[in-house]
Amino acid sequence: MRRTLVAGNWKLNLGPGAGADLAAAIQSALAGRKLRGDVLVCPPYVTIPAVAAFAQGSPLLLGAQDCSDQAKGAFTGQVSAVMLAEAGCSHVIVAHSERRQYQRETDPLFIAKIDRAHEAGLIAVFCYGELLDERRAGRAEAVVAAQLQGVLPQLAQATADNLILAYEPVWAIGTGETATPAIAQQMHQYSRAQVAALLGADAAARMRILYGGSCKPSNARELFALSDVDGGLIGGASLDAESFLGIVEAAEEIAA
Ligand code: PEP
Repeated sequence: MRRTLVAGNWKLNLGPGAGADLAAAIQSALAGRKLRGDVLVCPPYVTIPAVAAFAQGSPLLLGAQDCSDQAKGAFTGQVSAVMLAEAGCSHVIVAHSERRQYQRETDPLFIAKIDRAHEAGLIAVFCYGELLDERRAGRAEAVVAAQLQGVLPQLAQATADNLILAYEPVWAIGTGETATPAIAQQMHQYSRAQVAALLGADAAARMRILYGGSCKPSNARELFALSDVDGGLIGGASLDAESFLGIVEAAEEIAA
C-alpha cells in the first residue's frame, strides 16, 4: 500500500518568526503520535532553519519549494539541493505551476533540478497539470501526458522512492474551485498509466500521486479516498494550523 502524504506549500508566506509558530503548532499536535501517513511542510528558504528546529525528532518532514539546477558555483541567488539537505530538508518541490508561469521554467530545467535533488538524496515532488483553457478544449489528458513524457524518462535516477507526483490542475490552484472526485480520479488514474508506460508497472503501482488545488478539510476526505489519490499538496490551507491539521486527519482516517 502507498503511504499517504500531506504536504504544505507555504509559498511566499511566513518568515522565520511566523513559520516557527506554525511549525510549533503542527509539531505539538503530532507529538507522540504514530502516524499512518507522512506530513511535510515546505517553507520559504529563509524559514527552513526555524522550522528544522521543530521537525527534528518529530514526524514532521521538511522540504523546500524549489532548488537550483546547478550543484554549486557562480549562480547568484540560487540554493542547491545539497544545501537543502544539509539544512534538514528531505523533500523539494519542482515545477510548481507558479514557477512554470512566473519564471517561465520548462522541462530541461525540471529534469536538471530533479537530478540535482536525487544526487543530494532528496525526494522530488514534481508538479504538473493543465490550464483551464486546455481542459475546456478537451486537452487535459494530452497536456498531462506531454508534461510527464517530457520529464520522467529523462531523469537519471528516478524511482518510486525518490519521486512523488503532484497533479495540480492550474484552474484549481488558489481559486477555491476544486476538481470533482470524478475528475481527480480520472486524471490520477491516467497519470499512473503514463508512469507505467514510462517507468514500468512496479514504479507506477508504488509511486505516490498527490492532488493539489484548493484542498481543504471539508473536501480532503472525498479526494483522499479515491483509489489513485495518495494525499495532497496544500497551498492556502497549509498556512493555518487548524486547517492543515484537519487535512492531515482526513489522510489519517483514510489510511486507517
Ligand atoms: C498549490 O499551490 O500547490 C496549491 C495546491 O494551492 P492551493 O491549495 O491554495 O490551491
